[in-house]
Amino acid sequence: MIRFSGDYFDGQSSRAHPVTATFADGQLQIEGESIALTVARAQVEVVPPAGTARGVIHLPGHQELHSSDHVALAELAKLGPGSSPERWARVLEGRVIYALGALVLSVLILFAGLRWGVPAGALLASRTLPDSVDRHIGEQSLRLMEKVSLEPSTLPAARQRAISQRLAALCQQRTTHTPCPTYRLLFRDSKLFGPNALALPGGTVIVTDALVKLAQHDDEVLAVIAHELGHVQQRHSLRLALQSIGAGVILVAVTGDIGSVTDIAAGLPSLLLQNGYSRDMEREADAYALAWLDTACIPPRRFADLLGRIDQDASDTHLMSSHPGTRERIQPFQRPAACP
Ligand SMILES: [Zn+2]
Repeated sequence: MIRFSGDYFDGQSSRAHPVTATFADGQLQIEGESIALTVARAQVEVVPPAGTARGVIHLPGHQELHSSDHVALAELAKLGPGSSPERWARVLEGRVIYALGALVLSVLILFAGLRWGVPAGALLASRTLPDSVDRHIGEQSLRLMEKVSLEPSTLPAARQRAISQRLAALCQQRTTHTPCPTYRLLFRDSKLFGPNALALPGGTVIVTDALVKLAQHDDEVLAVIAHELGHVQQRHSLRLALQSIGAGVILVAVTGDIGSVTDIAAGLPSLLLQNGYSRDMEREADAYALAWLDTACIPPRRFADLLGRIDQDASDTHLMSSHPGTRERIQPFQRPAACP
């Protein structure tokens, strides 16, 4: 039994009624001058005293009982629903829900970081990093590929020279319209890559022998090179490299596995070759190529013709494979030259 004194407020007026309260058998009895009240413990809420403030017991109908008996109120609070197993279960359930909520939130933040944060960071970094970073990554990738998947070209030197010189001449005559970025053109043989072309960070454009052999006109090769120059101009491959490294950094932060970063960095050349570029990047490179071909008086359909042939060849190259909408994509190229 707990007994204490306090002031009762009836919830109607601000008048305090001195009372005596007794708690026994799950009932709180309040007695005073013309006051006799019995309330079940479950219906009262005890707010224990804090500092010098008096404790408050909330009763049904906005009635209140105020008391400075710290000991009694603390005991009453302990006997309340706060100590029942059901109450604890409710609290724990609440915590489990909080924990699950926090977990879901973490996963969402991680996903958003990978989905939007990393590409945005990579874009920003690709615009601000000095050219030397491009060149360094490009050289590393080229060295790796030359070890693994690239052989010296077997194309006649005259054919290589003809394409290189034509490209150089077209780039030199350009002024304000679609200027060529700094580039280096390399011909390489590759069983792995098939008819393909790719732009490395730093401006190295690799054209495979198979692509040149599949072309029925040098302008077709130049059209594909123009597309690659579009990737160079926008520093797409650097963005791709930074994205894969950025994703790796996040994965390491989460998993603590440093090995995954090296894996991703080593996998960069294959990233560049497979479905690495986003559709937006391909669209940008296409737009650049279209403008470039118009300025060069090369019929844009040369690009469409060669891509169509690669498609028939069913080769898995980045020029075709990553784009479900190939037909829609090459549509703008299916027209004659912009100049006579
Ligand atoms: Zn491309």
